[in-house]
Amino acid sequence: MKKVLIANRGEIALRIVRACRELGLQSVAVYSDADARAPHVREADEAVRLGPPPSAESYLRGDLIIEAAQRVGADAIHPGYGFLSEREWFARAVRDAGLIWVGPPAEAIAAMGSKTAARTLALAHEVPVVPGTTDALRDAAEAAEIAARFGYPVLLKAAAGGGGKGMRVVREASALASSLEAARREAQNAFGDDAVYVEKYIDGPRHVEIQVLADAHGRCISLGERECSVQRRHQKMIEEAPSVAVNAELRKAMGAAAVRVAKAAGYVNAGTCEFLLAPDGQFYFLEMNTRIQVEHPVTELVTGIDLVQWQLRIAAGERLPFTSNIEPRGWAMECRITSEDAANHFLPSAGRVSYLRLPGGPGVRWDGGIGVGSEVSLFYDAMLAKLIVWAPTRAEAIARMQRALDELTIDGLETSREFHLRVMEDDEFRRGAIDIQWLERRLDSLVGAPAPRELMEAAAIAAALLAERDRARRAPRTARPGAAEAARDTLPEHQPWARLARQQGLRGE
Ligand code: ADP
Repeated sequence: MKKVLIANRGEIALRIVRACRELGLQSVAVYSDADARAPHVREADEAVRLGPPPSAESYLRGDLIIEAAQRVGADAIHPGYGFLSEREWFARAVRDAGLIWVGPPAEAIAAMGSKTAARTLALAHEVPVVPGTTDALRDAAEAAEIAARFGYPVLLKAAAGGGGKGMRVVREASALASSLEAARREAQNAFGDDAVYVEKYIDGPRHVEIQVLADAHGRCISLGERECSVQRRHQKMIEEAPSVAVNAELRKAMGAAAVRVAKAAGYVNAGTCEFLLAPDGQFYFLEMNTRIQVEHPVTELVTGIDLVQWQLRIAAGERLPFTSNIEPRGWAMECRITSEDAANHFLPSAGRVSYLRLPGGPGVRWDGGIGVGSEVSLFYDAMLAKLIVWAPTRAEAIARMQRALDELTIDGLETSREFHLRVMEDDEFRRGAIDIQWLERRLDSLVGAPAPRELMEAAAIAAALLAERDRARRAPRTARPGAAEAARDTLPEHQPWARLARQQGLRGE
């Protein structure tokens, strides 16, 4: 392996460029027109344009990406996370084109792609899953019979699900039929597959996941856990390693379970088994993510193992030199810095980064994808960067994160920096008393009322927008007919603001 094409953008693309450079590999970036001057493009050895900004015309164009790899003479493709990273057909197409896929075999992606299939596999290898069915539900009557057996609340889940879509909590029998209907409809729309199954709803669990590495020579090891319970709408916001809820014995048991699942799926490369950890200490396998995770750096910092380098080395055929399961050293924590306005229902914010001051000093790591002058558009995910710290203990890691967040300045758009500072000050968070519903319970007191200064800024922006609208009304109409519809079609699917814009027909009012 000599040259790696990186089929991604933003911070993870830059992260992979850096791993390539340290390993003496050439790197090739790809980009859409919105990213022509992005840091991942500047830092790579070469760069290839894919197309216009919408992902469907650029980062999701597997055909163009494989063509580009062949044209520049790359011998491997690293997909990062998101985009094409968990598409079985793409892994297959890369292999069929004679290129190395930096990820698990297409068959392992397929085996873990369906939640019901993954549950069946886990059960067959004595890995506990949340009590529920492994087959899709036939009808509401069957659902009612099964739910009665487990007791309410239950959770309906799409077999093909991801990103929390096609999921419905049902608290009583009377709501079951309509919820099943709604979950099916949502699953059909999102995944083209309306298979829905039922699980017991676990109250107040933590999200604890296990990082595994497997080489192509039969060795598979666990690198310990990450705690990702600080979630909003099933999206992780803060992650740490290790977890306050996991001791050496539990770590060993969960690690062994994750390795059994990975081996059963014929897994090779870096992967993550997600579990729910109930308050009573029982853990349940949820799913396996067949790619590098956003939160991989916290594991890197407590194990000293470079996961992205090992992804590349495993893909190149190297053997893992580690023989035993690895114990974490110290404490690592990650805050996802997003272009979202926490004080305003996490509304996505767009703009040009006019000033950037990055934190530094002991134990601080910045994995970012922006620089001064970067245009943050609404075409892509709102995550701009990850701020990660390491310290000997959890309390010291929190103090370090506060210091690093204090040092961080990003001007030109709203970010989640302030929100993270408030979490770091929160009493329950500091005690580690968190579960996956914690943030939603706590959000109002964390986000609070906007400061007077923020209100003044909002008023100033509103005045500027009104002035702009008046100006536009006076100006001759230059917009092409159909331009509003075309713009609307490029809006991201699941963002609340985009939905709103679509409902409003993008009239600009
Ligand atoms: P997706 O693939 O759509 O993200 P997951 O199965 O990974 O779906 O679940 C997403 C999140 O939903 C989990 O991280 C957890 O917060 C919550 N969740 C999933 N299953 C259960 C359950 N049985 N009980 C309670 N919460 C759950």
